[in-house]
Amino acid sequence: MKLYNTLTKKKEEFIPLEEGKVKMYVCGPTVYNYIHIGNARPMIVFDTVRRYMEYKGYDVNYVSNFTDVDDKIIKKAIEEGTSAEEVSQRFIAECKKDMSDMNVKPATTHPLATQEIDGMIEMIAKLIEKGYAYPATDGTVYFRTRKFKDYGKLSHKNIDDLQAGHRDIKVTGELKEDALDFVLWKPKKDGEPYWESPWCDGRPGWHIECSVMSKKYLGDEIDIHAGGEDLVFPHHENEIAQSEAANGVEFSKYWLHNAFLNIDNKKMSKSAGNFFTVREIGEKYDLQVLRFFMLSAHYRSPLNFSADLMEAAKNGLERIVTAAENIRHLQKAAATVEMTDAEAALLEESKAYTAKFEAAMDDDFNTADAISAVFELVKFMNTNASAENTSAYLDGLYANMKTLCDVLGIVIEKEEEILDAEIESLIEERQAARKEKNFARADEIRDLLLEKGIILKDTREGVQWKRA
Ligand code: AMP
Ligand code: ZN
Repeated sequence: MKLYNTLTKKKEEFIPLEEGKVKMYVCGPTVYNYIHIGNARPMIVFDTVRRYMEYKGYDVNYVSNFTDVDDKIIKKAIEEGTSAEEVSQRFIAECKKDMSDMNVKPATTHPLATQEIDGMIEMIAKLIEKGYAYPATDGTVYFRTRKFKDYGKLSHKNIDDLQAGHRDIKVTGELKEDALDFVLWKPKKDGEPYWESPWCDGRPGWHIECSVMSKKYLGDEIDIHAGGEDLVFPHHENEIAQSEAANGVEFSKYWLHNAFLNIDNKKMSKSAGNFFTVREIGEKYDLQVLRFFMLSAHYRSPLNFSADLMEAAKNGLERIVTAAENIRHLQKAAATVEMTDAEAALLEESKAYTAKFEAAMDDDFNTADAISAVFELVKFMNTNASAENTSAYLDGLYANMKTLCDVLGIVIEKEEEILDAEIESLIEERQAARKEKNFARADEIRDLLLEKGIILKDTREGVQWKRA
């Protein structure tokens, strides 16, 4: 498996720090509003990276934070006459709902910046002790950028060029030693949330939050750090400086960045007003369509959002779902006899699409080509499945298809069928309850099913059910 590493500007073979394990950190959103479809791109893309790694057998520890203390959150709280905490809690809940509707798996851990302040104070103290940071007279703590010799290694910027860029900007009242120094801790302002620290009552800078949450949940050295390309500089560059100065080891081996999502070929931005929230798109489309649209391009290519492209994504997804539905339909009527030799050969032939899919994903997660392989499998299924086939063969085809769609996070079962599975599992639970003579639970399940309009019939062959 090869992935493009922003740090080396090369596609590199993925070699985990620890065999069979992946430690991955993805910078999450600042929660002061509903997430927009630009924020959805890294969520969907890196969720797919995670799913593919899991498919390859890795045990993935996936950490993604919520930035829940920030100027924008405080501003929103003041506007609404409420607290920053209320605003962030509300939009974390809304964000989790959007993630679930886009079939983005919850992270192993979703840390909140406000819950990790002690760790931040500890890391800042360590940086001061090592001479990499200093408190100014007003209590602000700055990182001494020039002291970190590798500064610029991720964004491939030269520190002297950066210095030249800064020279013209004279910020009055700043107490830092050097224009390049950035904030680790800042004093509180009236009405803002704050925490006590050895330097002043205040709150952390944004960059230190991720360094600390990554360290706490994944350790000093991780495999992959990811986010949108706007985070390369200064956010990730500063994270590297802080973490490596404090911990003395390489922070992350691989750095992955997704390109931006544009709208009608213009950069999507909140200030220009040309953005859509995921919620708005969800009113018009199943959010599976948004997911499919995002994966139709390579994650490092800019992607343009337009009504036409969303319609194309909708049609493409429908083709896949319909093919899956046809197979399920055939499965119901198929003879449960052994697969024929001819079928076995066809099933073997269909594996070529799985190989194609893997080759695409192994090449820096080329989901666009991976989707092409899925379409080829769809075509193969449409041509090579009929009412004459055995269920063993149809099951095999279906399983191939489902495995690939699962990696992409594309659901091919219809809601009603998911419900069928739910009913079956409740029936199983009821059988188990009866066996244990827990009749109260068994009756409870029967009533629950009845409420859902499901009628059970105990027969000699077992429990049968039908919709009322
Ligand atoms: P923010 O809430 O601005 O910190 O952004 C959360 C994540 O969304 C970061 O990884 C950003 O890089 C990413 N992001 C923001 N806008 C876009 C966009 N238009 N296209 C792709 N990614 C974006
Ligand atoms: Zn971050």
